[in-house]
Amino acid sequence: MLTDNHGRKISYMRLAVTDRCNLRCFYCMPEDGLNWLSRVELMTSEEMMQMCSLLVKMGIEKIRITGGEPFVRKDLMPLLTGISKLDGLKELGLTTNGVLTAPYVPELKKIGVQSINLSLDTLDANRFFTITRRDEFANVMAALDAMLSHDMEVKINAVVMDGKNTQDIIPLVELAKELPVSVRFIEEMPFNGDGHVYEGLRWDYLRILDEIKGKYPQIKKLDDPAYSTAYNYQIPGHKGSIGIIAAYSRTFCGTCNRIRITPQGELKTCLYDDGVLNLKDLMRGGASDEVLQNTLLTAFNHRPADGWEAERARVAKTGIHESMATIGG
Ligand code: SAM
Repeated sequence: MLTDNHGRKISYMRLAVTDRCNLRCFYCMPEDGLNWLSRVELMTSEEMMQMCSLLVKMGIEKIRITGGEPFVRKDLMPLLTGISKLDGLKELGLTTNGVLTAPYVPELKKIGVQSINLSLDTLDANRFFTITRRDEFANVMAALDAMLSHDMEVKINAVVMDGKNTQDIIPLVELAKELPVSVRFIEEMPFNGDGHVYEGLRWDYLRILDEIKGKYPQIKKLDDPAYSTAYNYQIPGHKGSIGIIAAYSRTFCGTCNRIRITPQGELKTCLYDDGVLNLKDLMRGGASDEVLQNTLLTAFNHRPADGWEAERARVAKTGIHESMATIGG
């Protein structure tokens, strides 16, 4: 079993396969996009495969592919197919905005992608456009339909933003009334890619829960699965469930089992850190699997205790707030 310097198990890797995205969610990146990585800066799919294979041998049991938007990467499906065949991998998941996803759902199901996280911050097409700066609401809903008709486990990720979509909390809760989906409300994090100073959080997990309780006082707490980042709830009579993720309040660091790899091969041992080493550079420099493995183990032995420690170190070093698209949300 892989563990870190705080005795936490490490078993879950999130791999961002690209920084590019076909939406421009204002909380994630500026309207003009980012300074996209050039092809040579991105890991090739062979490098991603080598890394996934090594990390699964070391003890990673679950991989989630994210981005940017994974489906803007042309070789995504062969890469996913390769990863799905790794011996020892217990779970393969995907996080997507749904814009290009619907036609791929049957194949995703076939290769064994069990769970999809679909980002959807509102059920109102106009607000969707305001938030994402793209007119793609219909395609996202088509992706949701396709996933449900293929019996996939669907989690809907909604970032709660003061003054932008708090009126969507109850309609999103009600999506889980008829549909077997888990709707997860996420605290907004300071990762908008434009470096503006973050003024603090107005909608934390407690306020989100209060809002839901106002309409559904009968809401019940569920047991949270091991390593869950969400507090999970159920409203009696609803087919789906509700989750609240304290991504800004960082209440889950004590059991964090995750590492992240960015599209350019940076290893992050905490969502809030600055990247602790570059695996692509090591691989291109000819490092053997043994060297890579030892380097990774050293990094796992220097994990920050929590996201506050990691953030302090990063802001002191860089002074900037990155975009989630380059971190791999
Ligand atoms: N493009 C894919 C998608 O939209 O799901 C995957 C990448 S996206 C960066 C992953 C998740 O990060 C999305 O659910 C998104 O809402 C979330 N995210 C991005 N910026 C965020 C922020 N500032 N605070 C909280 N969540 C954020």
